[in-house]
Amino acid sequence: MPIATPAKTIRLILPDHTPDPAFWIDLFRRAVSERCPVQVVLDGEADFTVELALQEGGGPEGFAIADRAAGGVQIASRDRPGLLPGLGKFLHTSTYSREGFSASAWRGVSQPQCKVRGIYFATHFHNWYHVAPLAEIEQYVQELALWGVNTVSVWFDMHHFDGLHDPQAQAMLARLSAILQAARRAGMQTSATFLANEGYASSPQALRADWSAGHDGYHHEPLGHYHVELCPSQPGGTELILRWAEEKLLAFAPVGLDYLWIWPYDQGGCTCARCAPWGANGFLRIAEPLARLYRRLVPQGKVILSTWYFDHFTDGEWSGLGLAFQQPPDWADYLLADDYGDQFPAYPLQHGAPGGLPLVNFPEISMYRCGPWGGFGANPLPRHLEAVWRQAARLVSGGFPYSEGIFEDFNKVLFAQWFWQPDRPASEIADEYTNYEFGAAAVIPLREALAILEQNHPRRVEGERVICESLQDCERAWQLIQQVEAEMPPAQRQSWRWQMLALRARIDFELSRTGGWLRGAALQEAFAAVTRLSHAENALPEALRPPVVNVVE
Ligand SMILES: [Zn+2]
Repeated sequence: MPIATPAKTIRLILPDHTPDPAFWIDLFRRAVSERCPVQVVLDGEADFTVELALQEGGGPEGFAIADRAAGGVQIASRDRPGLLPGLGKFLHTSTYSREGFSASAWRGVSQPQCKVRGIYFATHFHNWYHVAPLAEIEQYVQELALWGVNTVSVWFDMHHFDGLHDPQAQAMLARLSAILQAARRAGMQTSATFLANEGYASSPQALRADWSAGHDGYHHEPLGHYHVELCPSQPGGTELILRWAEEKLLAFAPVGLDYLWIWPYDQGGCTCARCAPWGANGFLRIAEPLARLYRRLVPQGKVILSTWYFDHFTDGEWSGLGLAFQQPPDWADYLLADDYGDQFPAYPLQHGAPGGLPLVNFPEISMYRCGPWGGFGANPLPRHLEAVWRQAARLVSGGFPYSEGIFEDFNKVLFAQWFWQPDRPASEIADEYTNYEFGAAAVIPLREALAILEQNHPRRVEGERVICESLQDCERAWQLIQQVEAEMPPAQRQSWRWQMLALRARIDFELSRTGGWLRGAALQEAFAAVTRLSHAENALPEALRPPVVNVVE
């Protein structure tokens, strides 16, 4: 390829009859102008032309990038969910420099392998999704769509409220609906989680679920039980669960829910004799009418039945589900299967999915071996997550990584790209990500820096000290980051993605100098910056809020 002079102006041609031209103009303009000095025009002469086209041909959600006869490129798809990843592929593989924009040489056709390419936004504890300005979240949703994410899922966590009409409940519903509306605008699908036996703080004492262990096969108490969940085996329990569920479904009706998850544990569950073992008994008895209620209100909606933490607190839940689904159920469309940490559940690996249902995963990208998660800046985990993904890849039709904020942005991109192309190496995705976000000159030095950051990832806070399992080569990582930063266009240097990555390297280096003690102005300044970027000022301490630093040296 001849090396062309970088473009200073780009003409953007929009799809014919697009109902939302501002969406494409704003997205494109922001993407390129945040990375290099370039002007985007809609008419007239320009150094380079990018044409977006919605047209027949190609598979659903796929795209094609080709040279235009009149110069420049055409990015085409038959639908909006394909056009965004097509534009993303072009943007992510283009080059941005102080001189301007150098268009991607990528040409070809691409089709996603997995149908469900979701993300779950945990919107709680004053984390980023809970408190960030909605405009920031809307931009972020669009940026995820460029990587191929096609579904956003949220959870209206009832236990915080006394009922749906609690003003705080209404505020949360409005926020979750706005997040889902942002997903809709980006051509995505929407999804919500319901705990199967979820209850408000005001749930009637007499109908509450049991969470105790040591009886009816329960050897451990279900993790994270809120103690306000309802028992569907109590007279009136099922009716109240369904009534509250219908109220919630109607509250989400204006934005619409393409998927409904029905969730067993963490939180939720009932360990009483009539419900045990929950996953193969009480859970299924309440999940079926919940699914039918949802399908009545949303006839095209898909039900995802979760198996999260089956066989953790009692035994025989996976095998019981296998028996219950010998005849495939007509009320569930997918099973969700995964586990915290390193292991995919054994049962579906050995026996396949009960009922032959397609599986989706729920990979943990946020909290893994780090507390407070997000408190130290970015947490790139390519090697770990690739190993996790390889276990599940042959079984799943996609999934929903569990996300607590923006600090694991890179980990989200890994899964978005694996759901698109399951055999894509993490290293290749990392190069595309660092090229786009940090510049072509960053790609090679950041390979080494990301590996060091991942190696030094595991840590926890004990009192005034951070216990890191390793800080080996942290000085080298910090040098690499500084070297990359010196070459970076000023606009990119200010981006939150770069700041979060650079802060992580800096914090690790400073921790090595203090022996892990949370002391000194440098650490205080770095944690304050992480807090500011994450909007974590009021986030749950010890879980999501960066550590407190004593400034006395
Ligand atoms: Zn019960």
